[in-house]
Amino acid sequence: MSETAQKPYSFVFDEAKDTWVCSVHGSVEWTGWVPCWNGCDDGYFDGYEEDPLWYDEGDMETCAACNGEGGWVVCGECNKNNPDVEW
Ligand SMILES: [Zn+2]
Ligand SMILES: [Zn+2]
Repeated sequence: MSETAQKPYSFVFDEAKDTWVCSVHGSVEWTGWVPCWNGCDDGYFDGYEEDPLWYDEGDMETCAACNGEGGWVVCGECNKNNPDVEW
């Protein structure tokens, strides 16, 4: 049992403060970008290329891993040693 109850990690954009807020570091100015690991093309798959039987040409399927974002903004402090992050 850990002594301190850990809040689930979150990294969200605070619209009111116009800044990213890390549940560990608070407001952070230093952010990185992790490209989606799912192999999508900027958040989408070309359905027709994946499976021409199910999709028409030009049908785009939203990537379920990144919800069409193509990747994630991450806290720079938390991820300073993360080799997957693009700065
Ligand atoms: Zn994706
Ligand atoms: Zn952080």
